[in-house]
Amino acid sequence: MANVTVCARFRPLNSREADCDDLCIRGLDAESFIFKDEKDEELKFSFDRVFYPESEQAEVFEFVALPIIKDVFNAVNGTIITYGQTGAGKTYSMEGPGIVNCDEQNKGLVPRVIEELFETTRASDGAFNYIITLSMVEIYMEKIRDLFDLSKDNIQMKEHKVLGIILHGVTEVTLENLEEALASISSGVSSRAVGETQMNMASSRSHCVYIFTVKQEATTDKRIKFGKLILVDLAGSEKVEKTGAEGRVLEEAKNINKSLSALGNVVNAMTSPLGKGSHIPYRDSKLTRILQDALGGNCRTALLCCCSPSPRNISESLSTLRFGARARHIKAFPRVNLKEDKSIKKHEEAHSLSKDNSYERT
Ligand code: ADP
Ligand code: MG
Repeated sequence: MANVTVCARFRPLNSREADCDDLCIRGLDAESFIFKDEKDEELKFSFDRVFYPESEQAEVFEFVALPIIKDVFNAVNGTIITYGQTGAGKTYSMEGPGIVNCDEQNKGLVPRVIEELFETTRASDGAFNYIITLSMVEIYMEKIRDLFDLSKDNIQMKEHKVLGIILHGVTEVTLENLEEALASISSGVSSRAVGETQMNMASSRSHCVYIFTVKQEATTDKRIKFGKLILVDLAGSEKVEKTGAEGRVLEEAKNINKSLSALGNVVNAMTSPLGKGSHIPYRDSKLTRILQDALGGNCRTALLCCCSPSPRNISESLSTLRFGARARHIKAFPRVNLKEDKSIKKHEEAHSLSKDNSYERT
């Protein structure tokens, strides 16, 4: 039984914070650090891994993503989530400074994941034919928008017995090579709804979800192995009043907080000592429903808690770290998706808006 892997990442100080004399963290080792709170009290936090400001993108990829990708090829689903306040480094960790033409050092998780997926299929001994697909959606104002087809702006979810939560009718792009894959993602990213808040000039107020599927068909007996890898770049977890939001922006912020507070409630319900066997409120938001498998089911999950190292952001960093500390107590139950042709076919039917809803549990 594997727990959710939880890591903390502290980005370097930015130019606005550079005049701070001190950081709010003092590293102890690769797994733990001391965090100084507003009253200068020292709190010790331990995670599966701590990435300090000087950590490289490649280290994050190797620790957070590589073991999960290996398991996706063994037909175990995987999820990687970045959590934290706006400006904490979620998108930098996930995408890097840009998807296309990014330098080797700064490249984020998404392009590294794609490289690894192609690398693994190339290195294969010919026992399998591979099909890798990608869907990209964002959850914005509690609606799921297809980033590859903006006319699909309210995608519904279904629960499939084998494949878990699936997005009904979402565009699935088959990834043929690295260059095309990066171009697709880049176009998806530019379709995101972004807005400006005082906390970050171009902060994204939506949750961005990448869904990769790896289908492996055995060349001899046609058996199919199926693995799903979900990457989630969450919207900022900061409290609304700090962002100076009003009007529509405030409405958006409340909806983001609805999804994030639902995520907090799910984590609390799953880790409460009284909560064993009790109701887990996955259905309270679109985000928690998409993450239902990641948190409660057939999945290996990694959570990257992104924080500023500046004393100016103590209360938000502390809330991010407490969320991560809580999530460490979640137990996940990964298992292998190994099915005959038939069950996967149902997945394909689901995506072609078939009227056959026999797999639906709702
Ligand atoms: P978020 O997505 O959490 O709102 P970003 O990832 O956009 O935050 O990061 C805010 C700024 O900080 C960006 O300019 C980004 O390039 C920079 N940044 C974040 N993390 C790092 C890091 N580890 N190293 C260098 N720059 C970083
Ligand atoms: Mg971001």
